[in-house]
Amino acid sequence: MIVIFLGPPGAGKGTYSELLSERLKIPHISTGDILRDAIEKKTHLGKLASELIDRGELVPDDIMMGLLAERITRFDAHKGFILDGFPRTRQQSEKLDELLGVLLRSITYIVNLELTDQKIVDRLTKRRVCTNCGAIYHLVKNPPKIENVCDICGGKVIQRPDDVEETIRHRISLYRDKIKPVMDYYSIHDGFITVSGDQNSTAEIEDLFEELGL
Ligand code: AMP
Repeated sequence: MIVIFLGPPGAGKGTYSELLSERLKIPHISTGDILRDAIEKKTHLGKLASELIDRGELVPDDIMMGLLAERITRFDAHKGFILDGFPRTRQQSEKLDELLGVLLRSITYIVNLELTDQKIVDRLTKRRVCTNCGAIYHLVKNPPKIENVCDICGGKVIQRPDDVEETIRHRISLYRDKIKPVMDYYSIHDGFITVSGDQNSTAEIEDLFEELGL
């Protein structure tokens, strides 16, 4: 099964993808995480991506395609995978279909998560992430038990540099701009579903997956 999560930053793509990945036993591929990993490791890609990400800009399509092709052709993705944060432009959607065509595979579901701008800002300014395992926290609803320390792996919990209000608002507007042609592209796909990104607990998300037959 190949599932794509679309949605503005903060709509819950990471959380939904992680839960679905555990449920279906297929990898969760977050292009944002791959880029942040490259930044951490100070690779050539990381240096290039770092400045763009901090400004809330998109990394060029050709770079993203190379990175994605390398990741989805790895052995662990042979049964399927979940994409979080890709595609983000019409060109990425088209190129993804071309690549999947060559691999004789196709997208099963495109799940479009919806959330209002105000809820996104409220959520993201309070979001904290573990730099080691990627666990996601919320300062009010789900803070780590020890400040700045991950409950799961003991890693360092930080605020992402692009999770500040001005950059968040820029990322939302960029998303709304670029995603319209992506939505148009997928709207005729049988597996295109729009759902609320406002589920408040793991149980609610699991119920939603059940309803969708995922
Ligand atoms: P995310 O973790 O999905 O919010 O992504 C963080 C940042 O990584 C984005 O704001 C972009 O700068 C970059 N990025 C992630 N995925 C893509 C993509 N598919 N195309 C272009 N840039 C991306």
